[in-house]
Amino acid sequence: MKIAIYPGSFDPVTSGHLNIIRRAANIFDKLIVCVMVNAGKNPMFTLEERVELIKRVTADIGNVEIDCSNELLANYAKRRGSCVIVKGLRAGSDFENEFKMSLVNRKINPELDTMFLTAESRYMYLSSSMVKELGHYGVDLSDFLPGEIIPDFQERIEKQRNSV
Ligand code: ADP
Repeated sequence: MKIAIYPGSFDPVTSGHLNIIRRAANIFDKLIVCVMVNAGKNPMFTLEERVELIKRVTADIGNVEIDCSNELLANYAKRRGSCVIVKGLRAGSDFENEFKMSLVNRKINPELDTMFLTAESRYMYLSSSMVKELGHYGVDLSDFLPGEIIPDFQERIEKQRNSV
């Protein structure tokens, strides 16, 4: 069975992420979407909330599992029996960093490959941080976020607004 891992912070999961999830799930027997703990970021949603949001938007995809981890990705992949990391590649910005990370992961775990799926053109500039920024200005996010999670997102924006 070919198992792939799609790692990220998914804070929150966007339509760009969901597009990559659907395409990768079509290629592999099983796709594990793994929310990685990133100490450097101050997240909008907790790890558990991010897992729940991804579960909700992928409920119709049979071969997807949602997990979270604070392990080194190369070790996590080995433990889960996967030798492929899936990454989405957006216009320009992602390449340098992703290339470097794929080499480091391969150095740690020589059996591990990284497969890049190019972002769909309409999501080429979409990131979770852009969505968060637009959210604060009340922009319509229906082109950027899966409909099922927009109420959760707006509620969180409102909560943040009221706490400042
Ligand atoms: P973000 O950069 O939006 O905060 P993550 O760190 O959660 O996202 O990214 C997880 C993975 O998803 C990375 O491989 C990233 O390149 C990819 N990705 C993020 N946004 C998109 C998008 N709009 N289209 C394709 N891939 C994307």
